[in-house]
Amino acid sequence: MTTTLNSTASFTLAFEALKCKECGAEYEAKAIHVCEECFGPLEVKYNYEILKQTVSRETIEAGPNSIWRYRAFLPVATDNYIDVGTGMTPLIEAKRLGRRLGLKKLYIKNDAVNMPTLSFKDRVVSVALSRARELGFTTVACASTGNLANSTAAIAAHAGLDCCVFIPSDLEAGKVMGTLIYNPTLISVNGNYDQVNRLCSEVANTHGWGFVNINLRPYYSEGSKTLGFEVAEQLGWKLPDHIVAPLASGSLFTKIYKGFREFVEVGLVEDKAVRFSGAQAEGCSPIAQAFREGRDFISPVKPDTIAKSIAIGNPADGVYALELARKTNGNIESVNDAEIIAGMKLLAETEGIFTETAGGTTIATLQKLVEAGKIDPDEVTVVYITGNGLKTLEAVKGELSEPFTIDPKLDEFERALERSRTLERLEWQQAMV
Ligand SMILES: *Cc1c(COP(=O)(O)O)cnc(C)c1O
Repeated sequence: MTTTLNSTASFTLAFEALKCKECGAEYEAKAIHVCEECFGPLEVKYNYEILKQTVSRETIEAGPNSIWRYRAFLPVATDNYIDVGTGMTPLIEAKRLGRRLGLKKLYIKNDAVNMPTLSFKDRVVSVALSRARELGFTTVACASTGNLANSTAAIAAHAGLDCCVFIPSDLEAGKVMGTLIYNPTLISVNGNYDQVNRLCSEVANTHGWGFVNINLRPYYSEGSKTLGFEVAEQLGWKLPDHIVAPLASGSLFTKIYKGFREFVEVGLVEDKAVRFSGAQAEGCSPIAQAFREGRDFISPVKPDTIAKSIAIGNPADGVYALELARKTNGNIESVNDAEIIAGMKLLAETEGIFTETAGGTTIATLQKLVEAGKIDPDEVTVVYITGNGLKTLEAVKGELSEPFTIDPKLDEFERALERSRTLERLEWQQAMV
């Protein structure tokens, strides 16, 4: 086929076209996301021969300290991409959490400190808006469970794009204010995410805007591959044995896999079987339910959980996530709201990382999988922490101890310290019984 990409890139582009994930039909790389032949989802297609010839560990290491070090694997055709420092977040060896759970080689990929808005969504939005600009959009938009709203509004502001964001009206204050501060048009819809998303599909058809997770979805979702690339590079150009990640639409999960496979294909890492395990909140667990029941279709649910950022009742990539967990000998589990809060506290107390409810879901699921013998203590296991706890303070309100309030006097401090030690002893004794 003829390439119609309007390329001004400084090197040979591997990014070629869009391709249907189901029937393989190919399309020009425009703002479309559904196959006209079979209604399957479209994915970005690359020329791996070009990548093999032009990319090496050295060329990547010499690149910027952001997701754009992997730009040869990303769907942008010009050098004019938006780099706001997204990506290259820490991969830390979680020794204390590992000891607590009985895992010897546990790592945390910490996107709670991603830039600019403290969640993994900055990856997908950096890519989607870079492509949106190339395609000539001046207004960008999204349907969001919270973090996507923050990212889209912030990065659109940086890029000087007009922005319209749609959210369900019951989101946490941190997510709402963390969007409004960038001054987009914020539409708060009385309904759940799936209803917001349906409305946005209609708006996308009538307004000709670039919706990052609708008509720009093929580009958007490629941003998640960088979570696979970075982990492989940070492990010393090796793949892990097992990954655990949260599932909302299931896109992130399947794209980590695509990232690993592309690195193998291009010869950057040795091939290895990686197990993929997914985490959902019980109050919105359509993929975990299908996994448990051995079904190969997803039955949509109505979300009811504190893990709002991953509360998608009708997940677009649910079936692919299900297939991936099965074929890699992984699992998909769900945990309830109390377990989610306990997971947030456990990660904070053992590793000093304050994650949001999605991260609590992932840690609690990790714990559940370990207890069920579904993770081997010797496996190199990477857990993806995708969002920041400061945005979901509501979840832990009333769940933590109170500060000791005193007058500025030494004897009051001594009394408070004594009380604190007594409380600690009591907690310890309770934990022992
Ligand atoms: C959006 C989101 C996810 C998962 O997204 P997918 O739709 O499955 O790609 C995970 N964690 C957080 C914090 C999110 O905001």
